[in-house]
Amino acid sequence: MKLVADAIKGTQDALPKESYKWHYIEKVAKNVASRFDFKEIRTPVFEKTELFQRGVGDTTDVVQKEMYTFNDKGGRSITLRPEGTAGAIRSILEHGLFNDALPIKAYYITSCYRYEKPQAGRLREFHQFGVECVGAKSPIADAEVIMLGNSILEQLGINNISLEINSIGCPKCRAEYTKALKKYFSDYKEQLCETCLSRLDRNPMRILDCKSPVCSKIAENAPVILDYLCDECKEHFEKVKSYLTSANIQFTVNPKIVRGLDYYTKTVFEFITTEIGAQGAVCAGGRYDGLAEELGGPALPSLGFAMGLERILLLMEKQGCEFPDDDVADIYIATMGEKAKMKAIELCKTLRDEGFSAVTDYSDRGIKAQMKYANKIGAKFSIVIGDNEIDSGKATLKNMLTGENTEVEIDGDFVNTLYKANTQNILTDIENTALF
Ligand code: ATP
Ligand code: MG
Repeated sequence: MKLVADAIKGTQDALPKESYKWHYIEKVAKNVASRFDFKEIRTPVFEKTELFQRGVGDTTDVVQKEMYTFNDKGGRSITLRPEGTAGAIRSILEHGLFNDALPIKAYYITSCYRYEKPQAGRLREFHQFGVECVGAKSPIADAEVIMLGNSILEQLGINNISLEINSIGCPKCRAEYTKALKKYFSDYKEQLCETCLSRLDRNPMRILDCKSPVCSKIAENAPVILDYLCDECKEHFEKVKSYLTSANIQFTVNPKIVRGLDYYTKTVFEFITTEIGAQGAVCAGGRYDGLAEELGGPALPSLGFAMGLERILLLMEKQGCEFPDDDVADIYIATMGEKAKMKAIELCKTLRDEGFSAVTDYSDRGIKAQMKYANKIGAKFSIVIGDNEIDSGKATLKNMLTGENTEVEIDGDFVNTLYKANTQNILTDIENTALF
């Protein structure tokens, strides 16, 4: 088959047979978020390029190398969102939500776009579930946001995830640290990659995040931020740790975590797995106290995280996590002849209005082929309607699971009979589950 165009490199389709897995992950994430009283925010897929340059930071990999930026027909520079936070904060500021009760607690499920080298768990279009908690300065908010992420992973049945946390201080204490880093890395100018060399003056902390083996090796002995924290940042970090301990959340402190985005302050964290190859961060976030001001708004200490949903799905499949069964059609109505089709379409309408999912033939196939299809889609019940059934007003309802047949009146109490039979199936299912 030669298509006019195939899918763009680094993109993935969620096919009808697989989409229930996405629905499940999204449902669990939304449920957990609402237990913490977070509400959904939806923002556009594209924003003005400056938003990300300022919001994500122009010394980051994302802005320097990964953005999908183009001029629209009006000559404006537009960027497809590479992450969800900048757009969410832009929206919160633009709508003046900070004038209402604080904190503002929002979550999102969005597609993101980054021009990266595609590989397992690293795509050019990927999806994030993220939360933002805006206007909350207490360390208890940090612990809560981390717990939210932790809770989603737990509810999805994911095991063996490690939570690593760090504090990268505030602009005040970071100034000293930056000086120390500059001094340290200056001795390795010859060996650092080109990107890191350019970071040396502008933002040496970024070097700690470089994925090149040479730079990571050099970074191993670099000064550690935790030794430079000011009293306020130190106390904040101590409290975050004690709240997490009190909530029984296990973590390790990893002073090497600096996160890829510029706007982070104080707490940063990652949930990491070693089971899906090199792309081990499934959820990452932190505090970004300076972002709202950076974007032209008031000072609003805030924090959040984003979870890579493709990586979550990969990990769940790898670990054999359970997904609840996909929904299947309640009933397949097989038809013979034109009159039967008229009846079938009427019945489908009645059944669907009552909340059942009903399917009938669209391909003028014989009964055998229709029943084969009913089996394939896993319909719970089936009924065959032909001239005889229309004349007698009666047909046979077949339970596809047990093979049991029940005579039904096509008009009369059909819906009720199906309802009862369906309930019986569900009850048997529950009994079986309870027994085994
Ligand atoms: P990485 O270190 O893997 O490049 P990052 O620091 O660039 O991640 P963030 O910007 O913090 O990632 O995004 C949050 C989460 O989104 C990541 O932890 C990851 O799960 C997911 N993610 C990031 N980039 C991609 C991508 N290109 N493809 C799939 N998922 C991604
Ligand atoms: Mg990245």
